[in-house]
Amino acid sequence: MAATSRGTSPVPPDVRPRLTVLSGPSGVGKSTVVAHMRKAHPEVWLSVSATTRKPRPGERNGVHYFFVDNDEFDKLIANGELLEWAEFAGNRYGTPRRAVLERLEAGEPVLLEIDLQGARLVRQSMPDAQLVFLAPPSWEELVRRLTGRGTESAEVIERRLAAARIELAAESEFDTTLVNTSVEDVARELLALMLEASGHRADSD
Ligand code: 5GP
Repeated sequence: MAATSRGTSPVPPDVRPRLTVLSGPSGVGKSTVVAHMRKAHPEVWLSVSATTRKPRPGERNGVHYFFVDNDEFDKLIANGELLEWAEFAGNRYGTPRRAVLERLEAGEPVLLEIDLQGARLVRQSMPDAQLVFLAPPSWEELVRRLTGRGTESAEVIERRLAAARIELAAESEFDTTLVNTSVEDVARELLALMLEASGHRADSD
């Protein structure tokens, strides 16, 4: 699978950056935070996952996800092409392995935005990875965000809320928690964590 974006890396080649994993309940705002950070810092490479979920309006293949069917996903697993994968709310999601390893070897900061099960699998296979948990300001706020997205049916929202209850309980497994009170602040803190993990300081947001 081809990578979709590439920027100039602020990390010198003698520093081996760590992989950063951003996780947290569905609806907490992971994608918004990541999009905000990458607008200012396109050099941060974000892995594009494969999924069997259908695209939401505005989502593009190869940009937001690689949208595949069940057979294609089975093949990715069988061929060992996924670094990790998990089933979430009735669909499967997985991280293409090769692109991630290539970026890390090239010395670039790499970010995965994945669910709790995936974060646990990455912790096992890459113990060096930095695990960051994005928490909602409150449970009520999470319910409001998930319901207000307006892209999912009541049944899907229920499944995602059930998953969120489990995911929230796993916060202590993570290295760091960021509370999503402000997209700007969290994006800046996430970038700082990524650069710190690579032995660098964030000079700007
Ligand atoms: P959504 O359907 O809202 O885009 O994503 C549902 C959940 O799947 C989110 O928590 C998202 O972070 C997670 N997810 C996206 N890509 C991956 C992946 O490659 N692996 C895993 N384990 N979870 C993923």
